[in-house]
Amino acid sequence: MKDISAVWQEMLSIMEVETHSLGFDVWIRPMHPIRVEDDILVLCAPTAESKGEVVARYLPLLKRALREIEGAPAEIVIVSEDEIPQPAAETMREEKILEEERPKASDRCLLDPKYNFSDFVVGECNRLAYASALAVAEAPGQKFNPLFIYGDVGLGKTHIMQAIGNDLRLTRPHCKMLYVSMITFINEFIASIHGVHGVNNQSFRDKFRNLDLLMIDDVQFLSKKQSTQDEIFHLFEDLKSAGKQMVFTSDRRPQDIPDLDERVRSRFASSMIVDIQAPDLETRIAILQKKSQKEKKNIGIEELTFIAERVTSNIREMEGVLTKILFLSTLYDRKVDLAICQEALKDYLVQECDDISVDEIIDCACKYFNVQKSEVVGKRKNKDVVVPRQIAIYLINEFTNIPLSSIGSYFGGREHTTVMYARDKITSLINTDTKIRTAVNDIKAMILRK
Ligand code: ADP
Ligand code: MG
Repeated sequence: MKDISAVWQEMLSIMEVETHSLGFDVWIRPMHPIRVEDDILVLCAPTAESKGEVVARYLPLLKRALREIEGAPAEIVIVSEDEIPQPAAETMREEKILEEERPKASDRCLLDPKYNFSDFVVGECNRLAYASALAVAEAPGQKFNPLFIYGDVGLGKTHIMQAIGNDLRLTRPHCKMLYVSMITFINEFIASIHGVHGVNNQSFRDKFRNLDLLMIDDVQFLSKKQSTQDEIFHLFEDLKSAGKQMVFTSDRRPQDIPDLDERVRSRFASSMIVDIQAPDLETRIAILQKKSQKEKKNIGIEELTFIAERVTSNIREMEGVLTKILFLSTLYDRKVDLAICQEALKDYLVQECDDISVDEIIDCACKYFNVQKSEVVGKRKNKDVVVPRQIAIYLINEFTNIPLSSIGSYFGGREHTTVMYARDKITSLINTDTKIRTAVNDIKAMILRK
């Protein structure tokens, strides 16, 4: 990150345009930046009340402003003046202070009871992950330690990880366990260095070592967080040598997490590594069936298939669609039929492609691969432009309603068959080539963030 006060000045100018002037003067302008640590910008608000207001009303805007300036996502944490320990107040502006904006999951080990083994539908896509998680729950610290589960967003990583915890809670009530997301871990760790909330580094260390089972979700966020990586390394060594079970999840394999210390990477890589793939049609139908039965609603197989055929990539999204369908069915007071499914899905599809333009998609692909747009839409066939071009085509097909036969016109009048080839190529590479899968996901995220 650039100079912190310059960044803050730029953020102020953006916020001034984007917010109501009264809100800006009352809540935004009085803050000052304290520190940047591991890509997290810490802002200090004068009072607890103003901190609350900023977190509730302005945090997303602040994040967007920061992203605009930095060109990459970065976290923002708001603290209030009275949370900064007094004796050190003088040096505080030089010091690293952090406080997380979310409730502390780790203190209460917030496991969601609905994430259990019996509600997890097993298919080819997740069989190995399921079996390994079950084995860990049966004999923690013995086989498969650590267990490292990776897969795309919304495919059940958090569910299966928490299922281990929920299961052990019943079978071994004395098992000391902690579930924490990597973001929370990072924030707590940095706060502990500076004694925010009266947590010192020793009590932080004790808390994470005095465990039989440690679950850390989304470890890809360790990328670039040097000081936290050191801490994780030592934690890893201590728990491992004490025979304590660790479970990690990530959206990619250890070798694909960028900017990760080699020693941390090799520790992750030494885990039992299992992946979760996108579910096939049958599994999707089974998941829908299970969820609707849980809600005590019976949906016919035709309707279930209709939904499962249309929502393919992400189980979380599929659940969202199902919730809407069940809601409509209650609202109209009639059984779920195809008309209701259609109505629910119409919104879903429109929302997906409504305001995403072909140009935005091509721009994001170019930015990701750092290539010129003119090259990507042009004639050259070098590998460095062909991959971004094929991914852009794949994503245009996914995000918009533009027929395949017309997509070629955005790429110098390419043939329909070329467009189809590009789409199919990427579709198959996503399953076999992690680099491509990561690129597609990252570009998708860029597009959706716009
Ligand atoms: P991730 O952590 O991979 O992003 P989650 O574990 O949060 O995904 O899963 C998203 C949603 O999909 C959750 O509500 C979860 O219960 C549900 N889900 C995912 N996989 C399955 C499955 N195999 N069976 C039943 N529900 C699932
Ligand atoms: Mg998750």
